Amino acid sequence: MSSVPLTREGTAALDAGDELAFLREEFALPPGVVYLDGNSLGALPRATAARVRDVVEHEWGESLIRSWNEHGWIDLPVRVAALLAPLVGASVDEVAVADSTSVNLFKLLAGALRLRPGRKVILSEPDNFPTDLYVAQGLASLLGGVELRLVPPAELAAALDESVAVLMLTHVDFRTGAIHDMAALTQAAHRAGALALWDLAHSAGALPVDLTGGEADLAVGCGYKYLNGGPGAPAFAFVARRHHEAFETPLTGWMGHAEPFAFDPRYRPAPGIARLLCGTPPILSLAALECGVLTLARAGVDRLRRKSMALTDLFVRLVAQECSGFGLELASPHEARARGSQVSLRHPEGYAIVQALIARGVIGDFRTPDLLRFGFAPVYLRFVDVWDAVASLRAVLLGREWERPDYRRRAAVT
Ligand SMILES: *Cc1c(COP(=O)(O)O)cnc(C)c1O
Repeated sequence: MSSVPLTREGTAALDAGDELAFLREEFALPPGVVYLDGNSLGALPRATAARVRDVVEHEWGESLIRSWNEHGWIDLPVRVAALLAPLVGASVDEVAVADSTSVNLFKLLAGALRLRPGRKVILSEPDNFPTDLYVAQGLASLLGGVELRLVPPAELAAALDESVAVLMLTHVDFRTGAIHDMAALTQAAHRAGALALWDLAHSAGALPVDLTGGEADLAVGCGYKYLNGGPGAPAFAFVARRHHEAFETPLTGWMGHAEPFAFDPRYRPAPGIARLLCGTPPILSLAALECGVLTLARAGVDRLRRKSMALTDLFVRLVAQECSGFGLELASPHEARARGSQVSLRHPEGYAIVQALIARGVIGDFRTPDLLRFGFAPVYLRFVDVWDAVASLRAVLLGREWERPDYRRRAAVT
């Protein structure tokens, strides 16, 4: 990007040349809002409301239980998996869409420990997303003798020894957006005889992921962030084909049985990835997720990444141009290539600044202790939105709006 100071007109010109501009129309965004939280809850695709209404009123309301066959409800998890697989560099038969990210982590960690009998350590980093650590702690306490070992990122490779069953990492850091080298760390895990489990919550739908090329063993991902599946959307789980036969899930429900409708009293796992399913799929949520992934898939993951890097670069550059001298610090990597589709800034008054921004229609979020986090979903954000967000940030800082007591009061969900 040139070093000429950017203006609002300059950013509007970037929108005129945006190869993904056509997709914004596919989303129902409220007027007057710049939405920089698609990394936490993706926006609503226009197709979703009509589709969910149809599933409720027509399929459920009229066809009732016949819908499992007549409207293909029973195949819906596989249909969504087929849409998702190419976004993460997996084959269709390696992805299961089910449950939440947290529950899938439980299933995959338990399965990983069984694939590496004799090894008792789950290795991760203290800055991993809390649910990943909590699930590992719960599993360790259930199994007894299993240890969750946390070491700083720079020490992970050295900590991989013959006690480690599985290395569990989040590909894109939820606080800073820093990207781990999936292929290198997976290789390091394999050299130590361990498996690698990747959490793609902040990767899937935001940047190219190559689970196959990176030789990942296991992965989970989230449906309601960049995949725009709606609040609490089903998540996904990946198990590399080479592990299918030996993989045992601890949640042996009937939907993962080889013959669910044989009503056999003994559990027999379905062949392949289907054993990752547990209970009855949530059809309303899956229908919404299908719309989200279909909409996103139209962008193409390489075009998504190109625009995402341009958006975050523009934001970093505009913050430097418009907001210097206010004590903001960049908490994300400087290089767009080294971060996901988000930029985080540090400020001691971060919480109140974010509330003041939200009051102005610029929705980002705050992560304790001092992070202002801004997600840039390339399918629906415009370059001019980035300008408007930074202009609001400048106004908040100039007017010391963060001093207002109502902006300092903490809400239940931040
Ligand atoms: C958002 C997120 C989750 C969410 O897990 P849920 O089970 O959907 O609540 C898990 N891991 C990471 C890294 C996340 O960012």
